Amino acid sequence: MQEKLKKSRQLYSEAEKVIPGGVNSPVRAFKSVGSTPVFIKRGQGALIEDVDGNTYLDYVGSWGPLVLGHRHPKVMEALHQCLEQGTSFGAPTELETELARIIVDALPAMDMVRLVNSGTEATMSAIRLARGYTGRDKIVKFEGCYHGHADFLLIKAGSGALTLGVPTSPGVPQSTAEHTITVPFNHLDILRKVFEETGQEIAAVIVEPVPGNMGVVPPLPGYLKGLRALTREYGAVLIIDEVMTGFRSAYGGAQVLFDIEPDLTCLGKIIGGGLPVGAYGGKREIMSQVAPSGPVYQAGTLSGNPLAVTAGIATLKILQEEGVYEELETKSAQLEKGLREAAGAAGLNLIFKRVGSMLCTFFTSDDVYDFETATRSNTEQYAHFFKLMLDKGVYLAPSQYEAAFMSLAHTKEHIERTIEAAYHSFAEVA
Ligand code: PLP
Repeated sequence: MQEKLKKSRQLYSEAEKVIPGGVNSPVRAFKSVGSTPVFIKRGQGALIEDVDGNTYLDYVGSWGPLVLGHRHPKVMEALHQCLEQGTSFGAPTELETELARIIVDALPAMDMVRLVNSGTEATMSAIRLARGYTGRDKIVKFEGCYHGHADFLLIKAGSGALTLGVPTSPGVPQSTAEHTITVPFNHLDILRKVFEETGQEIAAVIVEPVPGNMGVVPPLPGYLKGLRALTREYGAVLIIDEVMTGFRSAYGGAQVLFDIEPDLTCLGKIIGGGLPVGAYGGKREIMSQVAPSGPVYQAGTLSGNPLAVTAGIATLKILQEEGVYEELETKSAQLEKGLREAAGAAGLNLIFKRVGSMLCTFFTSDDVYDFETATRSNTEQYAHFFKLMLDKGVYLAPSQYEAAFMSLAHTKEHIERTIEAAYHSFAEVA
């Protein structure tokens, strides 16, 4: 393994000298699996190649955006054409309206949408808007749900049932954290109690409809509908954060799959086709509060960047094709089945969670339905499994608490190869 990754190791030590932790986003550092990162040179379809010339089947897909795989020919062609016109104008382009139109047409609860540059910007702006619209300050988020790194969303919940505003990171003022209430996911009774006590002060509830940042934790039947009913009863804005699930769980997102009508939706990842994009949108009455049509300020030098928007449009058009989501489901089900059998053959009793093309293997035999149960997973076993799979040419997320993403570029043969690698890896872990 050492020799195989020689150049990656060298590049990492160079990077560490000039970039904090050697990476531009923490999870890329492979810290939670006790390793150092593989430096990637190029991608094609479901495969990525590192700087040492090793190839891997990629189940990270740039953390979700690459649902079509790397360098899809139609996306590449559209990008090449766009590049010929220039890279950024800071003025409106027809392309922005085209992407906005595709998005609002896909989401029945969305009348208007504003494009930004990342998922963090989308959630941060949606919260500001919800506060401006309601005139209230408090927000509710769920333990284990990640919504980017804005101060008021970087709030850690303790292991207790309910934690009020404990910052996850130094630099988040206590006075900011105090406005964030954190409750466990999938426990409607606890949320109801919070609303009974402080419902009139709550501006918004923000939720990942299928949390994918504590592993994959599907919502229990009726949970999201219950959330919708409670927020409506108390006049709080329901923000569904579909940065990960948007156009992945279904065309549109998980809100289409589960038939939930949020007030606001956040998007990112897939709608940028691998380039930096985010978006927030929702009901006209709320969105018309955004500057310049309303008083809630939000802006961006590169927002609606032509290249990013072009990649997004090309990606979403392919996702409109007949049978695309059925194909993702079939492939993902095949992988889940194979992994279950491989773990079983090794005598491991593990928990597998999957919603569409988001999958997770938890190294625990107890059911997983919230942050507390997710964190029962044996992360040392996961780290061991991860390294074995990497050595066998399968690139999984370098953390237990992330999803594996299936893409349309993965073939039956790729999936069989992954399962074969898992048979050997599980056997070694057991
Ligand atoms: N919301 C969710 C559900 C996410 O998974 C992420 C990132 O992984 C974000 C928000 C933040 O998006 P970004 O990393 O583009 O800022």
